[in-house]
Amino acid sequence: MSIRTLRIGLIPGDGIGKEVIPAGRRVLEALPAYLNLKFDFVDLKAGFETFEQTGAALPDRTVDVLKSDCDGALFGAVSSPTQAVKGYSSPIVALRKKLDLYANVRPVKTVMNAPKPIDMVIVRENTEDLYVKQEKTYDGPDGKVAEAIKRISDRASFRIASMAGDIALRRQKIRDSGASSIHRSPLVTITHKSNVLSQTDGLFREASKRALSDAKYSGVAVEEQIVDSMVYKLFRQPEDYDVIVAPNLYGDILSDGAAALVGSLGLVPSANVGEGFAIGEPCHGSAPDIMGKNIANPIATLRSAALMLEFLDEPAAAAKIYAAVDANLEEGKLLSPDLGGHATTDQVVEDILKRL
Ligand code: ATP
Ligand code: MG
Repeated sequence: MSIRTLRIGLIPGDGIGKEVIPAGRRVLEALPAYLNLKFDFVDLKAGFETFEQTGAALPDRTVDVLKSDCDGALFGAVSSPTQAVKGYSSPIVALRKKLDLYANVRPVKTVMNAPKPIDMVIVRENTEDLYVKQEKTYDGPDGKVAEAIKRISDRASFRIASMAGDIALRRQKIRDSGASSIHRSPLVTITHKSNVLSQTDGLFREASKRALSDAKYSGVAVEEQIVDSMVYKLFRQPEDYDVIVAPNLYGDILSDGAAALVGSLGLVPSANVGEGFAIGEPCHGSAPDIMGKNIANPIATLRSAALMLEFLDEPAAAAKIYAAVDANLEEGKLLSPDLGGHATTDQVVEDILKRL
């Protein structure tokens, strides 16, 4: 079998991003040879420190190299100044736009021996809704008024729902391969508020249903939930859910809320996904309070690397990383301080490397 070489951009960013991204690199490099995968890494800059040094939070070179030369990337974290700094805006938001990474994918999973086995994925549309940021403020007859545009398109809703369907099918395959202790059938839950917003959320609902009625998803059950009742059920019965698809704002809120179900931010991965390209990104920020101490939990990043591999069509390599991480957590001997342990970042990484 021929060896596939994936070219991966590494963007550590700020704070603990500089500690967890090298951990991601080490784990990718240590994947066993029988997977027939090789990695070519390229170091790229972005973030607040880059902004201070060069005047650009997202240098053109970073975008160019990712676009023309990479299959995927790992992104650490960037610190966001508490007060607006002139000329600075979030590089990851800009990257999502420039590379048309239209989906934000956030798996939420407990370790296998947890009392309630949660294993779901939230698929958030990432290009429109209120995030088109078309706001205005004006003087109304009774004082100031502010308005924002909520834009929903058939195309973006259709493609995000199709991605949710594809993810549901892939997760079933991974379960069928015996790599998961969870038994369930594939389900996509469409989340919206079309009882109030009949046109915008109505369109999201309609386009999502149409996408998921395709024959290739005939094995996937489809249901819908109004977003408020979704929140209630998500917290009462998280084990009922498999794949949840939502427009941008609801997806943002649901994915942070769901992350709270599984403990530390240091465990939760995400991926920003477009056509044939994926950026793995831990959900946490730059955590300035713990930077430089070698105690950051690397697991969110390692899971993000695995998630990136899933979208680059390497599910076996991804499963390998997930299993090594789960084994570390289940044994519970080498855990970082956010999980109540005493291990350093390096010790956690080395324990996981051994398990690969
Ligand atoms: P930013 O502005 O970059 O988002 P922040 O101050 O909001 O920074 P977060 O990174 O969002 O910090 O983290 C919130 C809290 O969770 C902090 O106390 C941080 O130490 C902790 N935390 C975040 N990520 C990790 C991690 N990987 N390992 C351990 N603790 C973490
Ligand atoms: Mg933060």
